Amino acid sequence: MSKLKSSESVKVVVRCRPMNEKEIAGGYGVIVDIDVKLGQILVKNPRGSPSELPKTFTFDAVYDCNSKQVELYDETFRPLVESVLLGFNGTIFAYGQTGTGKTYTMEGLRTDPERRGVIPNSFEHIFTHISRSQNQQYLVRASYLEIYQEEIKDLLAKDQTKRLELKERPDTGVYVKDLSSFVTKNVKEIEHVMNVGNQNRSVGATNMNEHSSRSHAIFVITVECSEIGLDGENHIRVGKLNLVDLAGSERQAKTGAQGERLKEATKINLSLSALGNVISALVDGKSTHIPYRDSKLTRLLQDSLGGNAKTVMVANIGPASYNCEETLTTLRYANRAKNIKNKPRVNEDPKDALLREFQEEIARLKAQLEKRGVDKRKKKNRRRQGGEGEEGIEEDDGDGEEDEEGIKNEPEYWRAQQEKLEREKKAILDDHSLVADEKQKLLREKEKKMGDVRREREASETLATKIKAMESKLLVGGKNIVDHTNEQQKVLEQRRQEIAEQKRREREMQQQMETQDEETLELKETYSSLQQEVDVKTKKLKKLFAKLQAVKAEIHDLQEEHIKERQELEQTQNELTRELKLKHLVIENFIPLEEKNKIMNRAYFDEEEDQWKTQPITRIEGNQQMMKRPVSAIGYERPLSSYAKMALISRSDPRYRAENILLLELDMPSRTTRDYEGPAIAPKVQAALEAALQDEDELQVDASTFDPLRSDSARKSKSSRPKTGKKMGPSSSAGSGTQLYPQSRGLVPK
Ligand code: ADP
Ligand code: MG
Repeated sequence: MSKLKSSESVKVVVRCRPMNEKEIAGGYGVIVDIDVKLGQILVKNPRGSPSELPKTFTFDAVYDCNSKQVELYDETFRPLVESVLLGFNGTIFAYGQTGTGKTYTMEGLRTDPERRGVIPNSFEHIFTHISRSQNQQYLVRASYLEIYQEEIKDLLAKDQTKRLELKERPDTGVYVKDLSSFVTKNVKEIEHVMNVGNQNRSVGATNMNEHSSRSHAIFVITVECSEIGLDGENHIRVGKLNLVDLAGSERQAKTGAQGERLKEATKINLSLSALGNVISALVDGKSTHIPYRDSKLTRLLQDSLGGNAKTVMVANIGPASYNCEETLTTLRYANRAKNIKNKPRVNEDPKDALLREFQEEIARLKAQLEKRGVDKRKKKNRRRQGGEGEEGIEEDDGDGEEDEEGIKNEPEYWRAQQEKLEREKKAILDDHSLVADEKQKLLREKEKKMGDVRREREASETLATKIKAMESKLLVGGKNIVDHTNEQQKVLEQRRQEIAEQKRREREMQQQMETQDEETLELKETYSSLQQEVDVKTKKLKKLFAKLQAVKAEIHDLQEEHIKERQELEQTQNELTRELKLKHLVIENFIPLEEKNKIMNRAYFDEEEDQWKTQPITRIEGNQQMMKRPVSAIGYERPLSSYAKMALISRSDPRYRAENILLLELDMPSRTTRDYEGPAIAPKVQAALEAALQDEDELQVDASTFDPLRSDSARKSKSSRPKTGKKMGPSSSAGSGTQLYPQSRGLVPK
């Protein structure tokens, strides 16, 4: 088998969802016209003049609102999954505005077999394929991850707060470190994996719709297949299928956002715009640098875009008039993606194949088990032959069948051993010639031997179950999978595939004819009269003129779109620049230069995590990095009010700090003394005291009736400001004293 295949284009199909109830109720018009046979989509501008021609796009296949899930699968996705089963990498992207059916296409409604999406359909496909295979061993495993705001989350991990990193290895490329993957034996198990992931996806999201429209979900199925090749050696092929439900392609509103929110908004669609840039760079033919590294998504799916993978992109659109702009943007995006060339090849015998590890582990365990068997038999033989049983080992060196028989006979052997020991024990018990002591000793010995036998037996059994468990994960055709599909179904499937293939060919031919029509038809024409020639040529001219107009309109649209995009980018840039300037200003004015330099020296950019970090403070590298007491707070450079000065001394909050907003205070040692508490008072005395105090309280209440408003406010201010209480204390009490016993002004000396 030749490993290298010539390059092939990314396959792009478009699917238009039906009008939803709201759109019908709102009376929106349908602006999308779909020619399934031709693979063409016409979009009419709802605001354009009636003479304006609709915009035309041609794709590998198009699906209108009547399209069935299974139709899409058979025509578009089945060939791709089939390739994955042969050892190719495959990727399916669903691209489009939120609410146009990306998730419907990828997942669909799981409960309804008619409306199941690609992911569940591929489960069925993969396991059916395996059940029908012959002389092949398969291992299927699944992972599920999500990218939200440039952070990768493992949807199958126990700890959902953890974020994963991307790593790169020269031999296997980019991978997600510590991503969990589950080996699945059948459709039910892999469905369970998907359900668990989906549940985790919605946990923590306050608004699931919004969250899913802003995050990318990637379901990964890895299929490993081992087969004896022509050279008699065991070969392993590994195919990886990425099923990607992208974030909504609509522009995120960035205007007006500031600070964290601005950062968030710029991050949300970073992956998606990076994807667009990668596509542009790939198809323009001039770029030498493809910006894969700009986002997590493009790094992770690097192979699917211009690399070693077969890729299908489904562009989802809505038919209603108010979506016109987004629909056109999606179609243009998809149109560009058609021109990406991939170079898929079969992944044969990769280093990281899990299947090989499994096979080796099983072989190792089997050898261990066999060794136990040999040891056992050796003992037996020795006993039988009186220590000369060395040749007895030879018999076990044979092939697996004998080995299996050995395992099968195992229970019998163990029972015989047990019975023998029981018999011996009984014999000892019945032997009256032995002294009680000796009897006990012999009995204990026998018991010990029985324990040994039991333990050995248990160890063998655990080994056997371990082997069985591992082997059960390796799938073999027609054995592990329950659904024995009958011949009829197989034939039916084949027919369906043939029909799909036929349809595809028809469409291609139609498309070819269309283009040839225009070119050749009129070349062959001979004209009987000048008038006829004029007529025909006028017709042709008209046709070409219309085309020219369409192209001009397209150019105009594109320019407008570019301008809009550019304005938006400039706006974002402006906002970010403003933000940056503010930060600079704050740093320059409020952070001591020395501290700033120290932090600058410690700062470094973490490529993997795509963010700035600071190195931990080390005490070894000289005293350079050690914190010193700040000097800036001594000579105030700005005029300060006396209130601010007071607040600066008495309060810890940074509001009244002059130059230094960094907290550089020393940690004060914790207190080692205790406040003096008077001796415990006997309950009787306490009661008497309380009674006495109560009396006084009542007295005060009596007095306050003199001026209830003022004394009330005085008491309040006392309790609400305990800090200032010390200073205010005497004056306020003097104040209330004044109220209670007003001093006569006449006594003040003149
Ligand atoms: P997205 O994932 O792109 O945001 P969804 O897949 O959630 O969009 O689709 C939005 C709604 O439209 C869902 O209720 C879905 O059932 C419905 N829908 C989408 N595509 C189709 C279709 N081809 N046929 C019927 N219903 C569809
Ligand atoms: Mg969705």
